[in-house]
Amino acid sequence: MFDERTRTVVVVGAQWGDEGKGKLVDVLAEGADWVVRYQGGANAGHTVDLGPRCFVLHQIPSGILHHGVRCAIGNGVVLDPETFFTEIDTLVADGVDVEGRLYVSDRAHLVLPYHKLVDAESAASKEIGTTGRGIGPAYEDKIARRGVRVVDLRHPSHLESLVSRGAEHANAMLEHYGSAKRADVGQTLDILHGLAPRLLALADDVGLAVHRARASGAAILLEGAQGSLLDIDHGTYPFVTSSNTTSGGAATGAGISPRSIDAALGVVKAYTTRVGNGPLPTEFDEPLGSRVRELGHEYGATTGRPRRCGWFDAVVVRYAVRVNGLTHLAVTKLDVLDTLDRLAICTGYEAAGDVHTEFPSDLTALDDMVPRYEWFEGWQCSTAGARTREDLPPAARAYLDRIEALVEAPIKFVSVGTRRDQIIW
Ligand code: GDP
Repeated sequence: MFDERTRTVVVVGAQWGDEGKGKLVDVLAEGADWVVRYQGGANAGHTVDLGPRCFVLHQIPSGILHHGVRCAIGNGVVLDPETFFTEIDTLVADGVDVEGRLYVSDRAHLVLPYHKLVDAESAASKEIGTTGRGIGPAYEDKIARRGVRVVDLRHPSHLESLVSRGAEHANAMLEHYGSAKRADVGQTLDILHGLAPRLLALADDVGLAVHRARASGAAILLEGAQGSLLDIDHGTYPFVTSSNTTSGGAATGAGISPRSIDAALGVVKAYTTRVGNGPLPTEFDEPLGSRVRELGHEYGATTGRPRRCGWFDAVVVRYAVRVNGLTHLAVTKLDVLDTLDRLAICTGYEAAGDVHTEFPSDLTALDDMVPRYEWFEGWQCSTAGARTREDLPPAARAYLDRIEALVEAPIKFVSVGTRRDQIIW
């Protein structure tokens, strides 16, 4: 992706998340100097399979697995400091050297124990199907100007008043939910005081550091979490995450100018999945749903929750191409479809005799729409060993060509297995 003119690239999920961004970021990090996470929190889980070892990263950019690449948590992320250090310690125990190349924006907000408590006790969180990791409540506090930022750890008495105010609000919410649980200010402060020296040692003005790196010619990868259809503005609201997952969020969340982003790579599966509740127009019926779930190991990396599966939805991905300004696509998990005897791509939604080809904002209207499918023959042979486009069976090529034409973006990568080397450029 990187060349003389393309120095800053954003990688986004172009469906409902879990598209395999971790693998693509891992592959692209090879040519990057910096990898920056720009939104989300510990609810994201990127899986990177290095063959002998497999890493699941929740908050640390997957670029950390490449020696010498600098990794940063941008201001748009809500950071859970406890799990962050557990993740660092696990990486170090596995022989990954993180020393001196991991940075945290001092403007990033913190996910505190009372955010998790509120998330766990809230019926609304359960209805949406959140991961219960406190991400939503932490973003709520941020927007309500009640949040606690990394920079606040520098000033203990100010920190105490911020945490007391946050806990007071959390307790009001808990009481409202009818929960007997309460936030513990003393315990929260003890945790923060314990972690402050380690966290402050990594704290930096990440936007400025990235700006300077860019000015000196560095290659920068901006790593998104979740997917475009989970974006708080552009996703299937209210069944969305609490941040802007799309490429616009990359600029605000990394602290750089939108004009400094040169290319946007959208990662899509060769089919569609989503976890949690909300619309999934092309969802499989049984037994195909369970079959593809097993073939693709479609269980959440963070929570182990089974993912709902469906046919590739070109309406969704074309929408993602538009809102993100995608310059390229990466299609992952093509190998998962190897054994199917036929496949479908959704080309539009039918309702009352009309065909809709733009993704609607009105989910009630979407409920009444029926996907229109175009059918393809399955290739029924393994694609796992393919390393060039020509290695793919003709039926798989025809399937990918049709995706490319329908979504109006060129396919730059095709992934055919979990391992780093199982990719076609
Ligand atoms: P992310 O959050 O977008 O990085 O996605 P996840 O890590 O949650 O899910 C992607 C899963 O698919 C991981 O377990 C990957 O190892 C796996 N994966 C990625 N690309 C491929 C592929 O091409 N084929 C197969 N079979 N698995 C893949």
